[in-house]
Amino acid sequence: MKKKTILSLYPWLNSYYNKIINQFQNEKNYTAYIFYSLNELGITSLIYELIKWIFCINKQKIYSCSICDNCILVNKNIHPDLYIIKNNTKQVSIGVDYIRNLINKIYQTSYTNVGKIIWFPNLKQLNIFSNNALLKVLEEPPKNTYFFLQCKSKNELLPTIYSRCQFWNIVPPNEKISISWLKKNLQNNLIFKKKSIKSALRICNYSPINTLYLLNNSIWKNRNIFYGVLISAFKIDIMNLLSILDNKNILFYLDWIYLILLDVCKLHLKINLKFFYNLDQIFIIYKIFDLIFIDKIILMIKKIFFYKKILIKINTINHKLVIINLLLSLEEIYKS
Ligand SMILES: [Zn+2]
Repeated sequence: MKKKTILSLYPWLNSYYNKIINQFQNEKNYTAYIFYSLNELGITSLIYELIKWIFCINKQKIYSCSICDNCILVNKNIHPDLYIIKNNTKQVSIGVDYIRNLINKIYQTSYTNVGKIIWFPNLKQLNIFSNNALLKVLEEPPKNTYFFLQCKSKNELLPTIYSRCQFWNIVPPNEKISISWLKKNLQNNLIFKKKSIKSALRICNYSPINTLYLLNNSIWKNRNIFYGVLISAFKIDIMNLLSILDNKNILFYLDWIYLILLDVCKLHLKINLKFFYNLDQIFIIYKIFDLIFIDKIILMIKKIFFYKKILIKINTINHKLVIINLLLSLEEIYKS
């Protein structure tokens, strides 16, 4: 069997894989695992590899064979003892009946006698009733059944569920590892300066995967134009921003404004430039610094948060009106 890195696509996950598999090898494993990460870090791939190893009937040390029936069925995502519990409609939660049916099924014998795996890729989809049903199973789990739960916020977790699982906080790799990974994976990597890659990584909350997506997207190429419009909006007419903000990328752009304002705050506070988010936009940061005092910037950031929350929480709201309100309140602050 060829011994290669298991998670070659997302190498920062290998240490997690090794530690968890080690528990299984030493029979010190848990029944239920929670994988928590704020960022997109490829956890789905980690879970697939763990599942493959657990199900593989021909595993050697930490490696699954990839060619046995079980490995093939997991790869094709059709293993009969793997239950992936999710609702494809984001807003609809998973009901208690669904969980009860699932519980009945998992008490029946398994297909290959290697156990069963129940995987919740998005715990947020459980409501209070289905959460309680899940808790009941975790309190008395059926033999040879493992639970993998994924969440992006600790608020999505019932403390009682948390206390019955092993909790894994998956953190992004350090900047150096992320940058070298990005350089390897970027199309036309030579056109990107290190400062630009670093800025994108910081803007993406250190998720190399999201950074890769952003750098390959046309939105990144237009970033300089965006900041140019931002300066003209502050100098001449705030409504210059309306046409840019009034589209599906609104939340994205609000984050960009927020992060550059945060850098302006850092400049006012004389924080070393190396700690800035937008390392490649120092010129723009100085321009805004010359235009707006720190106390006003803080008020503007608060307004951006307020209106961003409205846009996230109320689906049916008229986006354009919210943006106009936001822009007018920003203007009111910096012109006062
Ligand atoms: Zn196998």
